[in-house]
Amino acid sequence: MPTSFRVMSRPKLGAHATVKRLVSDTGGWNVELVKENFLDADADNILSLPVGSTRVADSLMWHYEQSGIFTVKSAYWLGCGLSNPSSSSGLNGDESWWKFLWKAEMPAKVRVFIWRACKNWIATTENLKWKSINVSARCPICSKGCETTLHAVWGCCYLEDFRNSWHVCRFVRRGNKVQLLDFLQDYYEIWDKENMALFCVILWRIWFHRNQVVHGLKGVNLEEVVNWAALYLSDFREANKRSLLPVARHQSRVGNWQPPCLGRFKLNCDATINKLGRSVRVGIVVHDCYGYVVASNTQRIQATYNPQVAEAVAIYRGIMLAQEAGFWQVEIEI
Ligand SMILES: [Zn+2]
Repeated sequence: MPTSFRVMSRPKLGAHATVKRLVSDTGGWNVELVKENFLDADADNILSLPVGSTRVADSLMWHYEQSGIFTVKSAYWLGCGLSNPSSSSGLNGDESWWKFLWKAEMPAKVRVFIWRACKNWIATTENLKWKSINVSARCPICSKGCETTLHAVWGCCYLEDFRNSWHVCRFVRRGNKVQLLDFLQDYYEIWDKENMALFCVILWRIWFHRNQVVHGLKGVNLEEVVNWAALYLSDFREANKRSLLPVARHQSRVGNWQPPCLGRFKLNCDATINKLGRSVRVGIVVHDCYGYVVASNTQRIQATYNPQVAEAVAIYRGIMLAQEAGFWQVEIEI
């Protein structure tokens, strides 16, 4: 795969097989063997590569430099990326994309969804098959190809009318990308952040629609998805702007804050009561062990809680958010 350089399937060729095994006697790919050993997405990638001359001797190349020659500098950046789960490779383009995603002014559940989708952690049929779950990797809606993450949220043929109807889509065709992360990063370089945030909400909504349809439920009106997403974003931002008074016992804890242990997540939550005491605003932030924000949310609750109850409700809502986002090893700090 372009991002990780790992194939998504597990070839049956054996641990010591070389690329040469996949080349036919005539010098091209042995198409049958490639398709037999790799998932469709991997096979398409492999078959799209020209087969090199067999007269050229094999040599080791370092991908992270254009010259192919290893440098400590590129290894350093690669190492930074490997130790940071929020970044897929640590290279500048990737860092910029992840920074955008975690800082974008949009609901945490959208950010977490896009993050999980970029990691191929959402339950498309191909992702399930990759986890050795016995399902067909075919798209359950169109049956015309593997349901990769990108196919599920953008490439499926039932979305064609929608893709063609959105004016910004003239820049976003199906292209030749296989991974959602590569696809999004390409357009992140072209688009402004507003359109990118809107696009993230749209993809999240399409995934919701896909799940509804797959489970035999009523989907959303695709003609309205762009308007719906724009309104959803604007409502979210408007809600975040309202000024609120902090509860009396709130103290700034920024100076003492420590990230959680390795592999764990830390949930910080707080509540504020509005001037008239008729509503409570709950703020929730989840950090990973490197101190990166991996989920956040604010919620407005129409209620007349006292400060203690408001804090308890904030903790409860925080736990719900963490569970919804798939974070189970959570430390709670109030
Ligand atoms: Zn499909």
